[in-house]
Amino acid sequence: MCESEKTKNVSYYYCPNCKCEVTPNYYEYCDFCGSAVITVDTYSPEECRRAFELLDLVNSGKVKLSTAKDKTTSDVISSEYSEEFDRLRKNRMEVSFFKYGSARDNYGSGRVDAIKTLELCVEKFKKTGNTEYLVDAANYAMLRFMYPLTGEYFKSTCSNESAGIVGTPINMENNLL
Ligand SMILES: [Zn+2]
Repeated sequence: MCESEKTKNVSYYYCPNCKCEVTPNYYEYCDFCGSAVITVDTYSPEECRRAFELLDLVNSGKVKLSTAKDKTTSDVISSEYSEEFDRLRKNRMEVSFFKYGSARDNYGSGRVDAIKTLELCVEKFKKTGNTEYLVDAANYAMLRFMYPLTGEYFKSTCSNESAGIVGTPINMENNLL
């Protein structure tokens, strides 16, 4: 279980100045710095720390939060998601049903290795630059998701369990992560 799940719904005191969980004195002031503490029952201490650090950055003018006026939800979605990719992916699944037979027969039985085939697609993409191979790769990932092998499972994970990223995301550069 991740840290944030463990601490959910548990009340504790947090000092916004020290940015940590504290044991307050009788008057609910931080013993270290004398700031008023807050009671938290939803977020983990780590989430609180990030929130207050972000607040500091905003207050100091180092970071400007974009407002709803700057970007609407559909603007965000159209720049963050490709319906076209989904359409191409679905097309190819239909074609392969008629060409190769049902996914259940091919992947459910382990007749075709979806992950090794996915890797072939990625290699081919790297050689050619043709993004169609990425569409195929996504389909093989979906097929393995649908027909996992014994011992494989789906579980939502916290960001600290992510596989990692190569490069520096913009929010990491701005110290928001
Ligand atoms: Zn304090």
